[in-house]
Amino acid sequence: MPELPEVETVKLALVPALQGRMVRHAHVGRKDLRWPLPENLAERLTGRYFTQLGRRGKYVLMMLDNAEVLLLHLGMSGSIRIHQTPPQLGKHDHFMLEMAPLHDQEPTSYIVLNDPRRFGWIDLFAESEMPNHKLLSGMGPEPLGNEFSAAHLRAVLRGRTGPVKNALLNQQLIAGIGNIYASEALFYAGISPRRKAGTIAGRRAQRLAASIVSVLRAAIEAGGTSLRDHVQPGGEIGYFVQRLAVYGRAGQPCPVCAEPVKTLVQSGRSSFYCSRCQG
Ligand SMILES: [Zn+2]
Repeated sequence: MPELPEVETVKLALVPALQGRMVRHAHVGRKDLRWPLPENLAERLTGRYFTQLGRRGKYVLMMLDNAEVLLLHLGMSGSIRIHQTPPQLGKHDHFMLEMAPLHDQEPTSYIVLNDPRRFGWIDLFAESEMPNHKLLSGMGPEPLGNEFSAAHLRAVLRGRTGPVKNALLNQQLIAGIGNIYASEALFYAGISPRRKAGTIAGRRAQRLAASIVSVLRAAIEAGGTSLRDHVQPGGEIGYFVQRLAVYGRAGQPCPVCAEPVKTLVQSGRSSFYCSRCQG
């Protein structure tokens, strides 16, 4: 599932195709993805300009010139392709925007959302509704923003008796972290995924906050590199994950101590860790 860095990479890839450009045509292939799509979505987008693109947690937020916001969530299996000639739409291509070029030298861009499992979502609503939006309200601070710190982490984890790994996945505490970067951040902080969240204080909180920031930054950098250096033949945005230390590496040697990486299931999700390096 795309987490903060992958969503940031998608946003960065969309900027040159969308920002300042007009929607010439919108194709909506279904009435629903995870939830029903907004009424008259295609009509409401046609002729509108994108003024600015942003991201909040795992959502891409695309501002329109009529003070509405197009929200995109990629769910479990969603991906975006950018074409410069009209694409043949496949069975799982549920949504497409045809963007008018800014000038003669620029090609028309076709932005396609593919989502086989349909856990993704698109919403369109007034910017003024953002603070009360069901997915955005109550979301914790951005881990790469100024509001996030060791003190914030300590404050939101205090008194929590569940494992720290589960707390990191809670979007109300911190935005944008999923299974991959929770495992990675805990590894670099030397903290067991099983440790009670409420015991994260002092140096541990400092190490964990710093690890969260550094794993996310490294992944965003890797995503940016992949955008520049690995143009995908089918137009897919190539957000591959940077080299991971523990996630998905069960049984392989820990990069620090060479002990085999272990895995355990917490709340139905796999955690990866080194039992020697993480206490
Ligand atoms: Zn180790």
